[in-house]
Amino acid sequence: MGSKWVLSASIWICASAFAAGGHHHGEGQLEIALDGNRLDVNLVAPGADLAGVSTAGNSLLTIDQGGCTGFDVTASEVEVDHGHSDITLTQSFECTRPAAIGGIRVSLFDWAPSLEAVEVVYLSDDTTVATELTPATPVLALDD
Ligand SMILES: [Zn+2]
Repeated sequence: MGSKWVLSASIWICASAFAAGGHHHGEGQLEIALDGNRLDVNLVAPGADLAGVSTAGNSLLTIDQGGCTGFDVTASEVEVDHGHSDITLTQSFECTRPAAIGGIRVSLFDWAPSLEAVEVVYLSDDTTVATELTPATPVLALDD
């Protein structure tokens, strides 16, 4: 029966994707907040995906239009269970024309290749967008 196959498939997905501590290897959470000319980025992902990855010279995002300049990425690590940690990466941008921002690409995927997906929340004065981005679909399109 089809339903039996679906059940066993979902058990397999849980067993392979879930790790101790409640995070999922390969998955991160990304918050992007635009406030005036300042855009703040906060990413939380499993240490397993970011260990050994250098932030030097790298940017979390590539911003289309908007005249945005990125500052250095900073990192902090918190252990969530034995042998498992979450790493938080933060970065700020100064944008001279924030209203002109057309799209935001998650360039993090280029230098943290084991990440398979990020849950993204984008907040500004007049927009809230929540979506999932992946290496195959890394761009958050902002229409206005
Ligand atoms: Zn882990």
